[in-house]
Amino acid sequence: MKNKPWTMLLVATQFAGLAFAQHSAAPIRLMLLDGESAGPYHDWRHTTPALKRIFDDAGIFAVDIVTAPPAGGDFQNFHPDFSRYQAIVFNYDAPDERWPADLKASFEKYVQDGGGFVCVHASDNAFPDWPAYNLMIGVGGWRHRNENAGPHWFFKDGKLTSDTSPGPAGHHGKRLPFEIVIRDHNHPVTKGLPDTWMHVGDELYANLRGPGKNMDVLATAYSDPANSGTGLDEPMLMVMTYGKGRIFHTTLGHDVPAMSGVGFIVTLQRGAEWAGTGKVTQKVPPDFPTADEVRTRPDIAELTLNPTK
Ligand code: ZN
Repeated sequence: MKNKPWTMLLVATQFAGLAFAQHSAAPIRLMLLDGESAGPYHDWRHTTPALKRIFDDAGIFAVDIVTAPPAGGDFQNFHPDFSRYQAIVFNYDAPDERWPADLKASFEKYVQDGGGFVCVHASDNAFPDWPAYNLMIGVGGWRHRNENAGPHWFFKDGKLTSDTSPGPAGHHGKRLPFEIVIRDHNHPVTKGLPDTWMHVGDELYANLRGPGKNMDVLATAYSDPANSGTGLDEPMLMVMTYGKGRIFHTTLGHDVPAMSGVGFIVTLQRGAEWAGTGKVTQKVPPDFPTADEVRTRPDIAELTLNPTK
């Protein structure tokens, strides 16, 4: 019998159903928040469908996309009900003045009271002067962040180290593949992952600054001076707590091709599950990248509409 498209669809649907059954009766409720970025190079209209597909593929999440008003939009009537969700995923980067004080307060209360938060890539550029937000993300960059945001955090001699020297926050070189090094194998998000693995061509964020409180850096990457880097092992994946809330922060995922990397996909799926529930039930899949080989998922890669700058 020929493998017709509808057959594949049926198999995929049954597989998703099985995944639900294996984990728990109720899916983990995620809000995927988008609606603004600092420039055309972070096109949330392209990346949100990829993120949605990544969460759907995990088979354990129920995702609602919530799109914030654009600059100049009606924020007085934007009241997302964070409490309906186990975690809020930001694919969102806006300046401080965008959110009214009551909206900021409601998000702070949500995380403080035990809500999960997942910060994806340039979402750590958002809100440079919002102290609670900076505590949640641990470190951030750009939008006039400098030494006032906190020290530069990196790994040196196997340990998390900070440098308070003055300077701007946020840097990346050309989008080349790079190696990720796991620094904490005991955390649920990284348990069972190989010590080192190759990530697809992506921006390697460096020189990020922030309070770094209650922060566990799970993985780093070497910011190579040959690609205008810092020569330091920079944080790539980290977890924080804020009040009773759990935060997973991935600096990876500049665009859809970067999001098609299996390392990005799997750590995001696991990070979101941990942020939402405090546990990780997902197994490390057989197509996880190795120390020598980049791996991508074709179903995500095919969502690339056009490569961004
Ligand atoms: Zn980027």
